[in-house]
Amino acid sequence: MSPAPPLVLTVAGSDSGGGAGIQADLKTMLALGVHGMSVLTAVTAQNSRGVRGAWELPEEAVRAQYRAVVDDIGVHAVKTGMLASAALVETVAELLAGTDAPVVVDPVGVSKHGDPLLAASALDSVRAKLLPAATVATPNLDEVTQLTGIEVEDEDGMRRAADAILGYGPRWALIKGGHLPGGAAEAVDLLTDGTEEHWLRAPRYDNRHTHGTGCTLASAVASGLAKGLPVPEAVHEAKAYVTGAIAAGFALGEGIGPVDHGW
Ligand code: PLP
Repeated sequence: MSPAPPLVLTVAGSDSGGGAGIQADLKTMLALGVHGMSVLTAVTAQNSRGVRGAWELPEEAVRAQYRAVVDDIGVHAVKTGMLASAALVETVAELLAGTDAPVVVDPVGVSKHGDPLLAASALDSVRAKLLPAATVATPNLDEVTQLTGIEVEDEDGMRRAADAILGYGPRWALIKGGHLPGGAAEAVDLLTDGTEEHWLRAPRYDNRHTHGTGCTLASAVASGLAKGLPVPEAVHEAKAYVTGAIAAGFALGEGIGPVDHGW
């Protein structure tokens, strides 16, 4: 019998194409040597070209999945992704209020294809209920704009964005600058708790097959936290993981292929 690995729970939506969402989360967790568990919030009919349809689960189903896991197995870290509606955001925030485990909140708003994964009416609940429950919040620049109204154009803007996100209550903000205008040669992220500032820089690969990057990064951070790493170390390791997965991303279907977890 092997010893039990660290336990990580993802609370997120399903991507039928296997590139993002729950599927990316569980692949990342397997690759990083933790036991992945899942609370499904929504099901999407999705492929490399976009999201054809999305159906959210009843709040009761989300609650029951979460309880089933924590009542018996336990969790060392939680990651949240697509939460679809205000009702589900509030349900998940309420469940997370009862955990001591670190929580990584990926405030998923819109897919790379522009398909909405969160109702506009849920933004208030994300700001007021979900972000305060986060150990680390990981918005990309579009999500920063959605949540704070700030349009980030440079690294100074990333600092202002981090301050605004921290104002909603997460312990750390990881602002993902991958979508910075100007096509810089580097993908730059900023991690800060308002005191420490860590700039993470990685080469930008000329690879358009990046479906699932956000889910992968947040799951990798949660995996590191479940192993007991401090937040900055967990984020540095996660950034290295996602950079490798992007470099190895492959074509699938007619559209945007997924990052690769077998690199
Ligand atoms: N589908 C689901 C279920 C997701 O959770 C996400 C992102 O979090 C996406 C799609 C979007 O993935 P991407 O923007 O990387 O294409």
